[in-house]
Amino acid sequence: MAKKEKEKKTDASELKEQLFMKRKNTGLAMSDSEISKADKFCEGYKSFLDIGKTEREACAEAIRLAENAGFVPFDKNAKYKAGDRVYQCNRGKAVILAVIGKKSVENGVNLVAAHIDSPRIDLKQNPLYENEGIAYFKTHYYGGIKKYQWPVTPLALHGVICKADGERVDVKIGEDENDPVLVITDILPHLADEQYKRPAQKLIQGEELNILIGSRPFRDDKASETVKLNIMKILNDKYGIVESDFISAELECVPAYKAKDVGFDRSMVGAYGQDDRVCAYTALSAILAIKGAPDRTAVTILTDKEEIGSEGCTGLQSAYLKYFIADLGEMYGTNGRTVLSASKCLSADVNAGFDPTFSEPFEKLNASYCGRGVVLTKYTGSRGKSGTNDASAEFVGEVRRLFDRDEIIWQTGELGKVDHGGGGTVAMYISNLNVDTVDIGVPVLSMHAPFELTAKNDVYMAYKAFRTFFKG
Ligand code: MN
Ligand code: MN
Repeated sequence: MAKKEKEKKTDASELKEQLFMKRKNTGLAMSDSEISKADKFCEGYKSFLDIGKTEREACAEAIRLAENAGFVPFDKNAKYKAGDRVYQCNRGKAVILAVIGKKSVENGVNLVAAHIDSPRIDLKQNPLYENEGIAYFKTHYYGGIKKYQWPVTPLALHGVICKADGERVDVKIGEDENDPVLVITDILPHLADEQYKRPAQKLIQGEELNILIGSRPFRDDKASETVKLNIMKILNDKYGIVESDFISAELECVPAYKAKDVGFDRSMVGAYGQDDRVCAYTALSAILAIKGAPDRTAVTILTDKEEIGSEGCTGLQSAYLKYFIADLGEMYGTNGRTVLSASKCLSADVNAGFDPTFSEPFEKLNASYCGRGVVLTKYTGSRGKSGTNDASAEFVGEVRRLFDRDEIIWQTGELGKVDHGGGGTVAMYISNLNVDTVDIGVPVLSMHAPFELTAKNDVYMAYKAFRTFFKG
């Protein structure tokens, strides 16, 4: 048989090579050693997810890691020099970390902002009741959830209770191997004929998200509500609380299981709360990894309340970031608005990964894909780009050049087809402060479900992208 002649490139294939956009798959474009770095990085990521299932816990863990890396509490009256590492905690639910740069902050700072709150089931203020011998908690869900996904999955209770005397008790139950878990029930299929007729949005309704917490009565034949009493007695013994203490509490139910590798190839991470702790962990790791002093001051913000519109004093519609920047500015004899106007921001949040099983709501040319790297999202919003930061061509161009320079594997992403829903991030609240901002993040499958998926290679690329941005 004759030796096969080397295939000659046609004019069209050569021209295509020159002119068409190249899309990369991390699994092919990354070297074996880089893939094992990604795997190793995700071990730390998984433990961050397990330790920080609420905004408070993620904030505390971020601060613990930061202190280990030499960060100290920010003092607005102190004088800092290039390379100094500081952090400022906002009410235990949000934290700003900064590494002071060589240049004056008058030239702006490089911000990366991610959120550490995730959709969950919160307890109401008067949660405890008994019905036909079973005790329950009433709940009000937090963030955008598909309510039918939350029953019949083991739940853990996390949070704080502020007692009448002002003492605060921390609650975390359902995480230890020997802890009991809590659960929301669902009706058996045999008796679901009527439930099946409901539209999917109402398959499980808000007032049906009642959490089962016990079924044994307190031994007393005469009293009523003895199951509720028995539960209250257990809680009183353990935490020293009485029923009215629930009024001043923040108690959050989250899935009780830990982060896991997913797939026979272990290529993905499956866990609760990856939106947006995947960007929180990568943005945190990127600022902790800075060696010496960057050119421009580097700032990572881990914020709260994104899932409910960034309202409230720990959300990014509050002035806490603005105030921090103003304090930083004063150190250099300048003001906050000058610093902000010269600053740049990567709003670090997830995008919806294309789901081949549910492909209909995606527009394939502009969707982001798991395994194809970190996602650059120029705009989010809905109904004609309403409610979004739409990043400028100039700033997208700058970020693109930076990523290409440092061999970051990246892709673009738009959240679904036009007029098929939509969403938002903190990008617009930061860009409203006159900061050039663009969304950068990780594609997620089953976003906002109790068990979300990310590709490990993408997680690692997000970390590399934020590192590159801090280098400038
Ligand atoms: Mn998010
Ligand atoms: Mn979200």
